[in-house]
Amino acid sequence: MNNTYYGKLIFELSQEGRCGYTLPDNELSEYSLESMPAHLLRGCAPALPQVDELTVVRHYTNMSNNNFGVDTGFYPLGSCTMKYNPKINEEIASHRDFTGLHPWQPVDSVQGALAVYYTLQECLSEIAGMSEFTLNPFAGAHGELTGLMVMRSYHMSRGDEKRKKIIVPDSAHGTNPASAAVCGLEVVQVKSLPDGTVDVDDLKPLLDDTVAGMMMTNPNTLGIFEQRIGQIASLVHECGGLMYYDGANLNPLLGRCRPGDLGFDIMHINLHKTFSTPHGGGGPGSGPVGVRAGLEQFLPNPRVTMDEAGNYDILFTDESLGSISGFLGNFGVIMRALAYILTLGNEHLKMVGPLATLNANYVKESLKDCYELPIEGICKHEFVFDGLKDKSTGVTTLDVAKRLLDNGFHAPTIYFPLLFHQALMIEPTENESRETLDAFIDVMRRIAQEAATHPQVVKEAPHHTPVRRLDDTQAALHPIVTFKELAQ
Ligand SMILES: *Cc1c(COP(=O)(O)O)cnc(C)c1O
Repeated sequence: MNNTYYGKLIFELSQEGRCGYTLPDNELSEYSLESMPAHLLRGCAPALPQVDELTVVRHYTNMSNNNFGVDTGFYPLGSCTMKYNPKINEEIASHRDFTGLHPWQPVDSVQGALAVYYTLQECLSEIAGMSEFTLNPFAGAHGELTGLMVMRSYHMSRGDEKRKKIIVPDSAHGTNPASAAVCGLEVVQVKSLPDGTVDVDDLKPLLDDTVAGMMMTNPNTLGIFEQRIGQIASLVHECGGLMYYDGANLNPLLGRCRPGDLGFDIMHINLHKTFSTPHGGGGPGSGPVGVRAGLEQFLPNPRVTMDEAGNYDILFTDESLGSISGFLGNFGVIMRALAYILTLGNEHLKMVGPLATLNANYVKESLKDCYELPIEGICKHEFVFDGLKDKSTGVTTLDVAKRLLDNGFHAPTIYFPLLFHQALMIEPTENESRETLDAFIDVMRRIAQEAATHPQVVKEAPHHTPVRRLDDTQAALHPIVTFKELAQ
């Protein structure tokens, strides 16, 4: 472990009576103690290390240096769009005039914040080709659930109550079937063809008057554009179902092609992916949901509206499916997304997709002689290898991923999508320079060579990280997060 202080853990440095801080006197302390129920009072001081301030500063600084993020290195985590998060977004999102607001403030005192919300709603509608967006959902998966609830509300409003099935491709992200199940829908899988796209012949027999709709992402999780999307949307519409677009892969389409024009009725966008909010640690996120004309009334409460005089209001309606979050969603993420969109503008937003696509194809073509490429041809913003080309060494995708860590790269997404046993899913994003991509390609090629000449080195990787290879199962079942347990 190198998160020690000259070989010692911070608890081992504790010296009785040593102190690195002074707290101001708490004028309320006596009053608070009296009003506190006895069983909630602590009997003795917590066992914290007693160290000087400098040691604490070094402890936390050194720990933070063990962190890996987009700001420290290349992060090609497929499906997650780990793009650069411009620092100006942070500055704007943390502006006091916004962070100081309270959600219960009167509407006429938060017109600026509502303008931000409403303007982003409008931008997303334009980018996606939808009629209206809600920014309330807190993540992509939360958006999926909200969108499927819109779908259900639509069918119910027509008295069409037998539509309980939702069609999901076998290449779909796990959240798709999960959200559908949470929404009380029955998931029916449709197969993919060898080229990675939906098999229309497998889809046709599934379509009848019990189908609520179909969920798709395009380009799909293999990075392949579904060319038959027009035909698929027509088939689903003909049987009375609605098309749901999982917008996690919107990045390559920005400003070039709109889900609304492809035949989708309802969709979500992962603001934290496409529109630049740091999301490596599992949040915060935002999953706005957009709908085509005729479905707006079902969107969750509350909705932000603007009247002819340009005044904003917060509306609750009876037709709405109800509330799916407290207040109006993750406002900081919403501000970052708007800042990002306005900074790039229409012209530069159009460059995101082509550059992300170019970078992905460059990496794919440069590595396909060493790694198994199950689907040939041009991909969009990401692609999937099925492990090393030479499988005889026994070196797996997990081993390759761990060896990348030794070389200062974050690993790609591994073992997803489930269509391939050794999936290695790479998404470089539009931001990376030719030099960074070349360095990554170089290391990936070296690992492939190493797998042939010194397979044990790869199988035992990582060798140079703060902790060596973890037992994933034990780490998930019995995480050791405190010093006390560590000592046992
Ligand atoms: C990330 C992702 C999701 C889920 O989004 P979250 O914001 O993580 O909840 C759904 N579908 C696809 C294809 C994704 O990549």
